[in-house]
Amino acid sequence: MTTQTLPTFDGRAVINGQRMAARSGAVFDCISPVDGRVLTQVARGAEADIDAAVQAARTAFEDRRWAGKPPAARKRILIKFAELIQAHGDELALTETLDMGKPVKYAKGVDVHSAANCIRWYGEAVDKVYDEIAPTPDTALALITREPVGVVGVIVPWNYPMIMAAWKIAPALAVGNSVVLKPSEKSPLTALRLAELALEAGIPAGVFNVVPGFGPEAGSPLALHMDVDCIAFTGSTRVGKQIHVMAGQSNLKRAWTELGGKSPNIVFADCPDLDRAVEAAVGSIFFNQGESCNAPSRLFVEASIKDAFLEKALAKVPAYQPANPLDKQTVMGALVDTIQLNTVMRYIESGKAEGAKLLAGGEAVEPVAGGCYVQPTIFDGVRNDMTIAREEIFGPVLSVLTFTDAGDVVRQANQSIYGLQAAVWTRDLNKAHGVARALRAGTVHVNQYDEDDITVPFGGFRQSGVGRDKSLHAFDKYTETKTTWIRIDSPI
Ligand code: NAD
Repeated sequence: MTTQTLPTFDGRAVINGQRMAARSGAVFDCISPVDGRVLTQVARGAEADIDAAVQAARTAFEDRRWAGKPPAARKRILIKFAELIQAHGDELALTETLDMGKPVKYAKGVDVHSAANCIRWYGEAVDKVYDEIAPTPDTALALITREPVGVVGVIVPWNYPMIMAAWKIAPALAVGNSVVLKPSEKSPLTALRLAELALEAGIPAGVFNVVPGFGPEAGSPLALHMDVDCIAFTGSTRVGKQIHVMAGQSNLKRAWTELGGKSPNIVFADCPDLDRAVEAAVGSIFFNQGESCNAPSRLFVEASIKDAFLEKALAKVPAYQPANPLDKQTVMGALVDTIQLNTVMRYIESGKAEGAKLLAGGEAVEPVAGGCYVQPTIFDGVRNDMTIAREEIFGPVLSVLTFTDAGDVVRQANQSIYGLQAAVWTRDLNKAHGVARALRAGTVHVNQYDEDDITVPFGGFRQSGVGRDKSLHAFDKYTETKTTWIRIDSPI
């Protein structure tokens, strides 16, 4: 695979500040999709391990070793945590690439950077947030304060392992909660390192615990746990629905879900910059091998410019051919595992079988022997009722559809169970505002697709989930609102 020295990995859980094997002693192989090699063995966490981690988190919360610190003290420690992530950036990026296949240049430039930035941002924010006093009559004072919910369970997917974890643990920890994180079984390694770096930064033992394992074995006990106050989940809509059921079946814990998407990217004939629109359409669907919840997987191009658009798009495809993700020039790496590879290939076959026209790609390839790679793939002639337009593929597959006018495209774009993200390209301000308003999506881009910042909320309408990550709004998820009435007997 490479001649460079690989990090050594410790696959044991981090519970109460200690590295621990699973109580059952069970492990599973952590396989690299880069070339199929076994990187290490990882603790196969289950109910007993989740119990131990929740107990550690509960004890830490109740004795206020973290929640009781002044916000400014939590701020300093979180900033130190962010600095340590950055200082270990090369190691974390290499680990992420080996574990889930993304190009190492993005693992460093995007994942490490964004995770550290997110943790720093919530650290910096937490000592600048004020509570409220209600405008009540002067016979009483009503204080509206926010308190940490307590023990927060976090379950994340494998596509941006560090970023997805940071979006949840950063606001949850900043306001004083204790956390138990279950990373995806497909990418557990960086989460375990984050727990060690958090301890090194000064987050007390028991406040941030990480238990690796499979969804039904370790994720479900966390979502069902009677002593977990909130479960924050990112993953598929299928499992997200189960998370809400488990929250209801157990202790009615707060459940927040960031789920799938099938985002429409709408290009009108009066698009102000066709080259930029092509670059965004192609670059965004192939970024992270198409394994992004907000990938613009449905491209709606106004019929009159479709041929010109596709000619430019096809010219860009060779630049995205998958290659060894450890090579710093690579822009498209490996899919996360053979299961995902087979899923993507099944969708490509269904596109062909349902009558879409394959314009580019469509094949599994092996730029590195034993790895999981698929060519960047474009289908033309897609109808909104085809499987590849309805279901989230989570791979480098673009479906191209056409439309006649704004009403037609809004109707088609909104014909989806999802509502995560959307884009509209037009130089007509009225059309941009009108279409943006009519689209049922948590985020709408106008004349770009790439802007992203920790200051803005991220999340979906409809079956793309409940709640928002990022921005100050995320504090709402991890705090309870309390009203305290104080009687005032006027002495005057
Ligand atoms: P997934 O739902 O299969 O798994 C996500 C996590 O849930 C993993 O840690 C898994 O182990 C766990 N899990 C699985 N079954 C479980 C169960 N029965 N109980 C508890 N936990 C369980 O999703 P995935 O394949 O890892 O990730 C891809 C999905 O994540 C896509 O649908 C993608 O759109 C979505 N995603 C959404 C966002 C967002 O912010 N909206 C961001 C990234 C990814």
